[in-house]
Amino acid sequence: MAKDSTGRLHVTVKTGGKRKLSSKLWLERQLNDPYVAKAKREGYRSRSAYKLVEIDDKYRILKPGMSVVDLGAAPGGWSQIAAKRVGAADGQGKGKGKVIAVDVLEMPEIAGVSFAQLDFLAEDAPEKLRAMIGGRVDAVLSDMAANTTGHRKTDQLRILGLVEGAAAFASEVLNPGGTFLAKAFQSGADAELLAQLKRDFSSVRHVKPASSRQDSSERYVLATGFRGRPK
Ligand code: SAM
Repeated sequence: MAKDSTGRLHVTVKTGGKRKLSSKLWLERQLNDPYVAKAKREGYRSRSAYKLVEIDDKYRILKPGMSVVDLGAAPGGWSQIAAKRVGAADGQGKGKGKVIAVDVLEMPEIAGVSFAQLDFLAEDAPEKLRAMIGGRVDAVLSDMAANTTGHRKTDQLRILGLVEGAAAFASEVLNPGGTFLAKAFQSGADAELLAQLKRDFSSVRHVKPASSRQDSSERYVLATGFRGRPK
């Protein structure tokens, strides 16, 4: 077996039989991805967990006692990290945070996380979520990503629709000083969204954690210091 530039063994998968080239490449990438291996070792449900770890280690957005909404939470890596960092499973009392997670897919239980299976874009979703929150939250996180169609313009619009919806929801439920973190993609189509976030938050930046695949246009928008809803 060959070694890659970091000295790790590189696994190659054969094509042939029923396996198409695209599945061969996907499988090879999974088998050789250090974050996939790390997530397995450390008990996280997704390699995405490390994106939130990196962003939070740098910008300190999650603190004990906070309440957090996790949109597009399945299979649960971000919820696991958020629950740990806000102390959602720490029993009663001071420092006990709260995580409310939703996804259109099912998600196996995580201690300290309240989960609802729903489509965030459904008309009644924001109302259902507000009922689960029962007040305001300190952070709205969204790692939502729609399945791609292969048609670039359509995919960009769908992604933008999810981020815009998440941002609008964040501005309804965040406490003043709150944080909004959402998956976005480099498309240039999000100028209006960024302008709105800059009006609503004291700081807005794009972040690309090292664990976000460097060959993808994925990036995150991080808005901190929510100014509060206009009276
Ligand atoms: N952060 C997650 C983790 O660490 O395990 C990974 C999230 S995955 C990249 C994106 C998720 O967004 C998928 O589970 C998908 O089902 C969800 N999603 C996409 N569109 C959605 C929608 N309209 N409503 C709710 N969830 C959605």
